[in-house]
Amino acid sequence: MEFGLTREQQALRAEIDAWLDEVSPLVGESLGTEIADFDAAQTFTRLLAKKGWLAPSWPRQYGGMEATPMEQAVFAERYAYRRAPTGLTIVPIGLAGPTIIHFGTGEQKRRFLPGITSGETVWCQGFSEPGAGSDLASLQTRAVRDGDSYVVNGQKIWTSFGHLADWCVLLARTDVEAPKHRGISYFLLDMKSPGITIRPLLNLAGAHGFNEVFFDNVRIPSENLLGEENRGWYVATATLDFERSSIGGTAATRRTLDDAIAAARAGAFPGFRQARTRLADLIIACEVGQWLGYRVAWLQGTGAIPNYEASVGKLFATELAQRAANTLLDAAGMGGQLRTSDGRAPLNGALPEEYMHLVSMTIAGGTSEIQRGIIATRGLGLPRG
Ligand SMILES: Cc1cc2nc3c(=O)[nH]c(=O)nc-3n(C[C@H](O)[C@H](O)[C@H](O)COP(=O)(O)OP(=O)(O)OC[C@H]3O[C@@H](n4cnc5c(N)ncnc54)[C@H](O)[C@@H]3O)c2cc1C
Repeated sequence: MEFGLTREQQALRAEIDAWLDEVSPLVGESLGTEIADFDAAQTFTRLLAKKGWLAPSWPRQYGGMEATPMEQAVFAERYAYRRAPTGLTIVPIGLAGPTIIHFGTGEQKRRFLPGITSGETVWCQGFSEPGAGSDLASLQTRAVRDGDSYVVNGQKIWTSFGHLADWCVLLARTDVEAPKHRGISYFLLDMKSPGITIRPLLNLAGAHGFNEVFFDNVRIPSENLLGEENRGWYVATATLDFERSSIGGTAATRRTLDDAIAAARAGAFPGFRQARTRLADLIIACEVGQWLGYRVAWLQGTGAIPNYEASVGKLFATELAQRAANTLLDAAGMGGQLRTSDGRAPLNGALPEEYMHLVSMTIAGGTSEIQRGIIATRGLGLPRG
């Protein structure tokens, strides 16, 4: 592995920072709650589209830059460090778009990709159900073919952006007799279709990010089936493979630690100064996390498909983020609980927001237990338990 960024990657990093300096007065900073500030997230997405940076990894013919995995990691790192409100890009740019590029018909590409690369359409991911999370193939939402459409009944849960979305990548069971992985199909669902009911779920921080989504005889035209009927599991696996390096998670942690160190140097919050050896440990761990993330990007750049390496990066980055949030909140003392609205709050109230927001990060995108299972079996070659 090549340690260190190339001259070109360093130049890209500086260019991204300069552009973020320009646009950050327009969009502010996100503390992981940007869904609550939809306008800022949408403004940022459109500014990215205008700049041509919305879909760096995509082929040029679909509006991308054909950026290398290391270049993508540099983008992700700078956005996270600068707390850019990137939430609305996750599903369309990271999941739905690449899946449509890979499996879509010419017509589906013409229909859906321009709205994504212009930053105009908002997408959500309808995969998880109350009885199907880690074991996603157990999903029960049904889609029954009826003439030239499918009729969908069932329920999804934890659907981030569901209440804001125009479109949804939806998994539904189209064959109940087949083995569970072989009876699932992948649909592109118009969220304005009749029969959809959305109920908000508030997270620990009181923010409305995800939802329960109910389907009551919702019709999806058959031309919105992505890939073949009953082959949706394989399409979904590809969607989940468009995984990032987790480098953003470590960069966000590093930013909060840097802010705490700057506050300690300025003598603002004595607790941070007293916690200096713990802060030093966390900074070292951030360096490790950054290199674990670069390793995933570097492997992708060689044409390899990182597997347990991505799990190592995800596990390390999310658990480190929680450790840092715990340490900082503890070091800040009682005042650390003050929220962003209180002018006396340390680090402008970032600590309680991050502490609460980060609880979900070891669940979303595959729980820590699932990551450990992958590392044990695929990384270490241990037998399944
Ligand atoms: C912030 C956030 C946003 C999300 N956004 C979306 C979204 O937009 N769309 C969407 O479809 N889903 C979304 N999810 C859902 C997410 O994918 C699931 O929560 C996740 O896959 C875990 O599934 P579950 O919640 O059903 O937990 P379960 O799978 O029921 O797990 C419960 C517990 O059992 C453990 N466990 C389960 N299986 C194993 C095993 N084999 N070995 C060891 N331990 C195991 C888990 O680690 C966990 O501790 C989101 C979740 C969060 C937290």
